[in-house]
Amino acid sequence: MPESKRSTQLFEEAQNYIPGGVNSPVRAFKAVGGNPLFIKRAHGAYMIDEDDNQYVDLINSWGPMILGHGNEQIQEAVAKAIKDSLSFGAPTAMEVKMAELICDMVPSIDKVRMVNSGTEATMSAIRLARGYTGKSKIIKFEGCYHGHGDSFLIAAGSGAITLGEPNSPGVTKGVAQDTITVPFNDLNKVHEAVAASRGNIAAIIVEPVAGNMGCVLPKDGFLEGLRSICDAEGIVLIFDEVMTGFRLSKAGAQGVFNVQADITTLGKIIGGGMPVGAYGGKREIMDFVSPVGPVYQAGTLSGNPVAMAAGYAMLSQINENETLYNDLALITSKLENGFQDILDELSLPYTINRIGSMISLFFTDQKVVDFDTAKSSNLSLFGKYFRNMLDNGVYLPPSQFETYFVSTAITKEIADDIIDASRKSLKALL
Ligand code: PMP
Repeated sequence: MPESKRSTQLFEEAQNYIPGGVNSPVRAFKAVGGNPLFIKRAHGAYMIDEDDNQYVDLINSWGPMILGHGNEQIQEAVAKAIKDSLSFGAPTAMEVKMAELICDMVPSIDKVRMVNSGTEATMSAIRLARGYTGKSKIIKFEGCYHGHGDSFLIAAGSGAITLGEPNSPGVTKGVAQDTITVPFNDLNKVHEAVAASRGNIAAIIVEPVAGNMGCVLPKDGFLEGLRSICDAEGIVLIFDEVMTGFRLSKAGAQGVFNVQADITTLGKIIGGGMPVGAYGGKREIMDFVSPVGPVYQAGTLSGNPVAMAAGYAMLSQINENETLYNDLALITSKLENGFQDILDELSLPYTINRIGSMISLFFTDQKVVDFDTAKSSNLSLFGKYFRNMLDNGVYLPPSQFETYFVSTAITKEIADDIIDASRKSLKALL
C-alpha cells in the first residue's frame, strides 16, 4: 500500500463517529485488506488522496464520472444553478428538460420520475409494478444488486424457487417470502419459478448486464427470454440500468441488446456525480404513480435543481457526442488486450469479461456467467493485485465482485500506464 499516514489517521478518527468509518461498506477495503484511502480531490483521470498520492481512477465514483472528473460543463451548470438557491421543493423548468431528454434518449421510457438514488429508484419501481399488477412476488437474480431496499437483500432460501430468506438482519421473513432469487442467465430456472408462483408475480428485475458480481454479460437469448416470459405471464419486466444506463449506449443496455423493459431504473451517470436516481417506463404503468395514480412515492429533494443541472449537463453532452461509446470501447478493449497479453505470458488463471467501458478481470479459468462462477475467483490473489495496483498508481474497485468503469479522461497514454502498472502488479504475485 502507498504511504498513507493521513488516510490512516482519518480512518481511525472516522471509526469513532461513522459505523466502520465509511458511509458505504465497500469503501472500507474489507474485501482487499489494508485501510481505505481518503480522497481529497480528483481531476480528469486521476484521484489524489490525503497523503498526496495520485492514482488513475478506474472506479469513477462507481460509474457516474464517465466523462472524467471536473467536467467543465457540469461544473459550470452546477455553479450557475447554485446562485438561484439550492432547493425549492417546487417544480422547475430544468426538471421538464431533464425528463424530456431522458424520454428522448431511452425509447422504452415514456414518462420518468426523479428520485435521489438508485436504491430509491428500484424500491419505487417494484412498488409500482406491484400496484400496477395487483400481485406481490418479484423474481431477482443471484449476484445482481439493486440497492439496499429490504426486498432485494434476500438470498435464495431452501425452497429456492418459491421462497427467499433475509440475508441481512433487519429484513423480515415476511418481506423475504415475496422475493424469489434465481441464478443469472438461467432461463429454465425462471420458467420453474414462474410456474411455481403462477399468477402471483408482479415483476422480474434484472441488471441486463450485471455489474455487481463483477461484469457478467447476458447469454444470447437471456434478455429476450425474460421479455417473452413477462409478455406471456403479464409480469412487469424491470431493467435495473442504474449502472448500464447511459454507460453502454444512449439507451443503456436496452440500446445494445434491443430488448425493451417495461420499467427502467436509472442512477449514477444520470446525476453527473450528484445524488440522483430515476425510474421510468411505459405511460400506462407510470400513470399509476401518485398524484395521477394510486401508487404513492414522493421526495423532499427529488428533482433538486442543482442535481438536475448537473444531470442535464451530463446527459446533453452524452447525447451530442456521436463517437463517445466507440471511443470508450476502444480504450477499454486496449486495456483488455493489454491485461490478456500479460496474464497469458505469466500463465495466471483468468477470465476477462468486457462490454463497452465495463470490464472485470476474474482470477479464475472458468467462464464467468453467473454468481457461482464469479465466486470461483481466487479472492486472495485479487486482494494482492488490488494493493499492488495502488502501489503502482492505479485505483481499482476494492472487490473482485465489482466492475471497472472507464472514463473518457483515460487517454491511450494513460491506458498504457495502466497496462504497465498491471504488468508490475501481476508479476509481483508470482
Ligand atoms: N442498482 C444497481 C444496478 C446498482 O449498481 C446500484 C449501486 N451500485 C444500485 C441499484 C443502488 O444505487 P445507489 O447506490 O445509488 O442507491
